[in-house]
Amino acid sequence: MITNEQAADTALLTPTPSVFSLEGKRALITGGGSGIGFDIARCMTLAGADVIVTGRREQPLIDAVDALGPKANYMVNDVTVRAELDQLVDTIERQYGPIDILVNNAGINMKKPALEVTDEEFDRVVHTNLNAVFSLTRACATRMVERNSGVVIMISSMAAYYGIDRVAAYGASKSAVEGMVKILASEWSGKGVRVNAIAPGFIETAMSKTAMGGDPDRFARAMRRTPMGTFGQPQDIGWAAVFLASEAARYITGASLPVDGGNSIGF
Ligand code: NDP
Repeated sequence: MITNEQAADTALLTPTPSVFSLEGKRALITGGGSGIGFDIARCMTLAGADVIVTGRREQPLIDAVDALGPKANYMVNDVTVRAELDQLVDTIERQYGPIDILVNNAGINMKKPALEVTDEEFDRVVHTNLNAVFSLTRACATRMVERNSGVVIMISSMAAYYGIDRVAAYGASKSAVEGMVKILASEWSGKGVRVNAIAPGFIETAMSKTAMGGDPDRFARAMRRTPMGTFGQPQDIGWAAVFLASEAARYITGASLPVDGGNSIGF
């Protein structure tokens, strides 16, 4: 027997595409011209969103994003130039309209034994993966809070949780992002803005190929840590992002969703 209160919510209990639809929403996806970010953009446009994708390079990323159709636009932007991020958000909102969804995807890795990492290298990774993420999130969330509506998604990493060798700066930056998710989610939970993370495992992109360095031993080690026994594909992260951005996830904030073929079950 369904009560009246439950009946009012049956739309959310029915797994129809509409619950997951992003129709009428606009997403800003940093570093979305290639790799995981590109597939987040692809999945979000398939779910009905308009997307603005950023990256440092022009070609071939402009052509790649153009191929996603009229709902996708590319803008050249380096997230590490923090003083320009407020202006970026302002320009996008004036040109296209309000940003409903921010996906902080742009990130860099650096694999090196900790004793060989210079201060400059450490700072470069933290600057991109953490400091810039805070600045852009603040710029977008200022407007989202005013509108009492918005979603922020951080692309974190399982390196935030585990002692993976040779990623001191990367792991530290992603752990800090995971901490920030909980704080921002708490601060903005009464202001209509949800903040969550996705923690990918081994996903097949340029970054993971570089990290593996073509070394079959490293690849075999990574697969031993992955109960499902395969690399994930960028669209596995894309659909998780669609879910977190959608109404289906309206009661989820401050969470980190592992999308990792089971890495997080434990090594
Ligand atoms: P890639 O290196 O394949 O792509 C990164 C993208 O980010 C590129 O399009 C790049 O474009 C852009 N980018 C890098 N720096 C900047 C910057 N300063 N400003 C704007 N754009 C920038 O990485 P992935 O797709 O693999 O990774 C995406 C995210 O997922 C990262 O945050 C990463 O840490 C995370 N992740 C990836 C995993 C994996 O296995 N691949 C695992 C766990 C997490 P351009 O060079 O033109 O700027």
